[in-house]
Amino acid sequence: MNLAFLGLGAIGMPMARHLASRVALTVWNRTADKARTFAVTHGASVADTPADAARSADVVITCFPTSREVESVLEGSEGLLTGLRRGALFIDCTSGDPATSRRIAATLAERGVAFVDAPVSGGVTGAEQGALTIMCGGDAAAFARAREVLAAFGRKIVHVGPVGSGDALKAVNNALLAIHIWSTAEGLAALCKAGVDPRIALEVINASSGRSNSSENLIPQRVVTRAFPRTFRLALLDKDIAIAADFAREQEVPSPMIQLGADLFREAHMALGEEADHVEAVKMVERLAGVEIKSEA
Ligand code: NDP
Repeated sequence: MNLAFLGLGAIGMPMARHLASRVALTVWNRTADKARTFAVTHGASVADTPADAARSADVVITCFPTSREVESVLEGSEGLLTGLRRGALFIDCTSGDPATSRRIAATLAERGVAFVDAPVSGGVTGAEQGALTIMCGGDAAAFARAREVLAAFGRKIVHVGPVGSGDALKAVNNALLAIHIWSTAEGLAALCKAGVDPRIALEVINASSGRSNSSENLIPQRVVTRAFPRTFRLALLDKDIAIAADFAREQEVPSPMIQLGADLFREAHMALGEEADHVEAVKMVERLAGVEIKSEA
């Protein structure tokens, strides 16, 4: 099987690494040096353009920041659409938006190319370990083909529904992530001001019903230590919760919590910039509270 992978970013790179050891892989990246280094290190071919990457591929995988970049890489004289073969499968691992994925799927269907939206969860560590959760939207036949390929870096691979459903579920998941980060930080800031050590507060919360991935992993490892490593950009979480807010509105579900979360993460993104990590949103809570969530022990 010939496979093309486009978008060697923070999470795309470790995903592609798993594929390089299993199939004949061609890579393309906007910053070409990254693709060249990847090819030399992991054994892959480099394509000069998206069209070239697609020309001999049975399966094309994309992993870009948003659906906008997926559409832009499809278009133009050197775009993927020029090179994609009839019968190929297009898997988009971007955390995209459902409406754009449906539009892309329709364009591809006219050319005999199947489409699956397949956003991932589990972070860079999950990608490195080949242990991602992958939520897929598409028809059953396309999903069956996609699953074989996605097994290279996915542990839990679930068919969620028609095209766009994977994107919608991913957006809802990340809206919950954002709300957990922000609300846990608010509670801990208040406890810090009252003189409770956040390590002790988290030890109790994590043995109680308020625990979440934020309280169990993110805040202890990244905030209390003040390490704030950059693994998943705040800009991308802002994008995800905005998709969830739009999705809930489209479904006519009153969702004040998600809407407020979207506003707060937009503000944090604007204040902290494009390169800030998602967990750095906690710094906004800290600024407003006038306290840092750190252990005095
Ligand atoms: P990054 O910002 O690290 O990488 C984005 C990739 O897209 C890079 O290869 C970049 O190329 C490329 N790119 C950006 N803009 C363009 C453009 N206009 N045209 C062509 N290529 C472009 O993002 P991540 O890898 O972190 O995220 C990718 C997707 O995965 C996002 O949708 C994100 O929400 C999702 N995701 C990320 C997770 C994470 O932990 N990082 C976890 C789960 C999902 P270049 O190298 O030239 O900049």
